[in-house]
Amino acid sequence: MLPVFKNEPLTDFSKPAEQAAFSAALERVKSRLGANHPLVINGREIYRETTSATINPSRPQEVLGTFSKGTVDDANYAVESAYEAFKSWQHTPADERARYLLKAAAEMRRRKHEFSAIMVLEVGKSWVEADADTAEAIDFLDYYARQAMRLADQSHLLTMYAPEQLQLVNIPLGVGAVIAPWNFPLAIPTGMMSAALVSGNAVVFKPAELSPLVAWEMCQLFWRQGIPDGVLNFLSGSGSVVGARIVDHPLTRFISFTGSKEVGINIHESAAKVHPGQKWLKRTILEMGGKDAVLVDETADLEAAAVGIVQSAFGFQGQKCSAGSRAIIVREVYDQVVSRAVEIASKLQVGAPDAGLHIDMGPVVDQKSMGKIMNYIEVGTQEGQLLFGGSPVVTPEGGYFLQPTIFGGVDGRARIAQEEIFGPVLAIMPADNFEHALFLANDTEFGLTGALYSMRRDRLEVARREYHVGNLYFNRKCTGALVGVHPFGGFNMSGTDSKAGSPDYLMLFMQAKSIAERL
Ligand code: NAP
Ligand code: MG
Repeated sequence: MLPVFKNEPLTDFSKPAEQAAFSAALERVKSRLGANHPLVINGREIYRETTSATINPSRPQEVLGTFSKGTVDDANYAVESAYEAFKSWQHTPADERARYLLKAAAEMRRRKHEFSAIMVLEVGKSWVEADADTAEAIDFLDYYARQAMRLADQSHLLTMYAPEQLQLVNIPLGVGAVIAPWNFPLAIPTGMMSAALVSGNAVVFKPAELSPLVAWEMCQLFWRQGIPDGVLNFLSGSGSVVGARIVDHPLTRFISFTGSKEVGINIHESAAKVHPGQKWLKRTILEMGGKDAVLVDETADLEAAAVGIVQSAFGFQGQKCSAGSRAIIVREVYDQVVSRAVEIASKLQVGAPDAGLHIDMGPVVDQKSMGKIMNYIEVGTQEGQLLFGGSPVVTPEGGYFLQPTIFGGVDGRARIAQEEIFGPVLAIMPADNFEHALFLANDTEFGLTGALYSMRRDRLEVARREYHVGNLYFNRKCTGALVGVHPFGGFNMSGTDSKAGSPDYLMLFMQAKSIAERL
């Protein structure tokens, strides 16, 4: 018997005790930084001479740890070990597999501030953003454990047929390549990996090179509980080397990927190729980018809309697939909403988030990202009117800080209105009316999240039907989906239309077997 699933509450940082606990966790984490970490394949720790460092983007000289860079041979060994381990893991009862997740959730909950603190240092999340990431990871573990138990045997759904005893069971697929991004460096790998494992698959997990440390801590939770060797393999290294190899390996059965459109397309194409010795068509579960919009019409609560625009655009420095990187505002209220949004954005505190709770925006994740975003800002100055920001925030330690940046008067077809920038850059577009605003919102190759602020029932109903995004929000921001509450995933170039944190997500990691015995 298990209590029903409940979302992990976010930390109430207005309580001094919670602030003190978070500061203490930051200190604890800082005191044990700098270790060198191995690959873990088939339960064996393997150290490679070539390593890559994970650094603090607020102070790039600060090395948080180093990780072995796996080779193609390591990738082969990992897939082959997982294939062997799968032979018995697939037959462990769903309840038993679920217990690994439930225990991991409980342990993560007890140490939640430590996990969050690592993300503050490793990718520059604010306290609030890091706390939400950890809560989501706990939710995935607790939620998928329950779903796995529910989905293992669905015989009760069958139509009775008297001469036979019937069964419908969902069985796992095989070896899964789990490839994660750095932007939700705990929640997303935890979600993809736990979904695969609890469904009875064996996993080769490739963390993002920019955020292996928090992923490493998460894997420890599973290994410490004695998950069998080879069931969860940790393969750090470069995406184009080990990532590509675990996608291509003929023993890989499925790929669970979250990341950019470009890499997602590449994986989709590679996975389609059938290699010698391969006995199946690979399944791909790809969760990709977004160019999400917040719409505001003339009937909206304009203050709420301005707040929602700023939160959606600049939370975690705009580095969310769900970030509201476009705001589309009908002309009648355009000036009012834009000036208020600029005013709110101008108050955001940019800085190293380990300095305290008061920091709203940390750095962007690395030098390369900073360069790419600055290029888009340059493009934006040709395409629109720079209303706020546009410059790096220089610190003595050379952190990758950028001002929240807002362009107004942007055309719907402009590059900054079409391409995913993945940084704190907001493109604001005027629309003639609600219909035009909805047209602009849908005029993108992506379809992940979207918001509409309006008080008109008829418009909310039109948007309900015609706003083509996987996650649609009315009169609230377009980020912050909760597991089980807002099943998450987008349409078109935002991925393969999967829904993480939904009642049927685990079906993507399983196949159904129908069994009939003549009586
Ligand atoms: P990315 O550059 O596509 O990388 C994602 C992962 O793929 C990393 O582990 C990367 O390894 C690996 N990789 C790179 N090249 C590969 C290849 N040829 N074969 C196999 N794997 C390869 O994405 P990111 O910069 O980490 O994350 C940001 C992107 O993720 C954004 O586009 C964002 O919208 C998207 N995202 C989507 C969702 C969603 O739910 N739809 C959620 C979060 C993020 P390296 O680290 O070694 O490069
Ligand atoms: Mg880092």
